Amino acid sequence: MIHRDVIVIGAGAAGLFCAAQAGQRGRNVEVLDHAKKVGRKILMSGGGRCNFTNMYTTPENFLCSNPHFCKSALSRYTQWDFVGLVAQYGIAYHEKTLGQLFCDDSATDIVNMLLSECEKAHVKVSTRCEILNVEKNEQGFVLQTSLGDYRCESLVIATGGLSLPKLGASAFGYRLAEQFGLKVLPTRAGLVPFTLQDADKATLAELSGIAVDVQVSCNSSSFRESMLFTHRGLSGPAMLQISSFWQPGDVLSINAQPEQTIATILEIAKEETPEALLSTVLGKLYPKRFVQTFIALYEWKNTPVKQLNAKDIEKMEANFSNWQIKPNGTEGYRTAEVTLGGVDTNELSSKTMMAKNVDGLFFIGEVVDVTGWLGGFNFQWAWSSGWAAGQYV
Ligand SMILES: Cc1cc2nc3c(=O)[nH]c(=O)nc-3n(C[C@H](O)[C@H](O)[C@H](O)COP(=O)(O)OP(=O)(O)OC[C@H]3O[C@@H](n4cnc5c(N)ncnc54)[C@H](O)[C@@H]3O)c2cc1C
Repeated sequence: MIHRDVIVIGAGAAGLFCAAQAGQRGRNVEVLDHAKKVGRKILMSGGGRCNFTNMYTTPENFLCSNPHFCKSALSRYTQWDFVGLVAQYGIAYHEKTLGQLFCDDSATDIVNMLLSECEKAHVKVSTRCEILNVEKNEQGFVLQTSLGDYRCESLVIATGGLSLPKLGASAFGYRLAEQFGLKVLPTRAGLVPFTLQDADKATLAELSGIAVDVQVSCNSSSFRESMLFTHRGLSGPAMLQISSFWQPGDVLSINAQPEQTIATILEIAKEETPEALLSTVLGKLYPKRFVQTFIALYEWKNTPVKQLNAKDIEKMEANFSNWQIKPNGTEGYRTAEVTLGGVDTNELSSKTMMAKNVDGLFFIGEVVDVTGWLGGFNFQWAWSSGWAAGQYV
């Protein structure tokens, strides 16, 4: 039987960071992961450059059934704390957009940094380890694993969510929570592209590859970012963001003129180029294929703009500012960046991440019912929750 003070299950963002914190406090820590490689999601995140945090992180950037839960951890280990660590390691980074910080070179820099932090703190990291059974007794937890039996005082579950099963995602954390009597809220894919109903798919498939700046709204949430048409449906930051707020059957309202209204565009055009066709005028501001599809879809008059009357323009405005699409569904966990739902935060201490009713059992990162928006917030939750637990395990 191998004895450790702390065992962390899951060598992803939250698990590695928590282990390093605990190790730096002098705790004897081992991280166990069933995958061949640690931090695989970090490595493929942000297109290989890892959007490791967001400069403007606030609790409002997270979805959770208890919106107050994440406040404590986020305020005690902030985005600036993590930026400080990144800078300490000499990792070059830049802001891409909207406060999103990415590595200049590669996400590998972040994984190497986490492993260095673990090494410095004498944390052992073991991969290819299947967890076969977990029990609790008077002294703590007893784990049966494919690498042998372990005993530990504190057990941290950092096994993440269900997205990207091919990268080693599993429902382990949820099942373990249930084993110990904790409530797990229903899970669903978040930050995920939409698939379309057959009729929309037939109309929009030819726009595949085109991106348009939009304001998309659903269930009282709204995002102004870019939307990408794909051969399967709708993607791009705007759609990924709103997908976390969308429920099956909901309609998306898309405003394709968030900057300047069609009425303003046409008013100017009527003055400056009255003979120009509607498609020519709009084609200067929007991708041409997008304009053609829209004109056909809503049977707009593709005449010289001087011939468009107030009623025509009103109709266009209504169509363009409130384009309604009812998705067929989402691409699901196969391509989702995150999993919504998970271990109910009412079961956990927001200060320590420990289960209120199971001494020594901690849950951190994505397995918990805290989900960030797109833009580095999910990693910040991994760092903040990992840090919080790391002080108490
Ligand atoms: C393609 C993609 C891109 C992303 N890009 C970004 C981004 O740029 N910025 C951002 O903030 N977020 C991003 N995310 C989200 C982010 O990766 C996750 O929110 C974050 O990794 C969660 O950290 P975690 O430690 O909780 O879980 P994970 O990083 O998923 O780690 C969980 C670990 O647990 C292990 N594990 C699972 N089950 C078991 C088991 N049964 N036994 C043992 N080990 C197990 C897994 O192998 C894994 O190593 C992205 C996600 C994806 C899928």
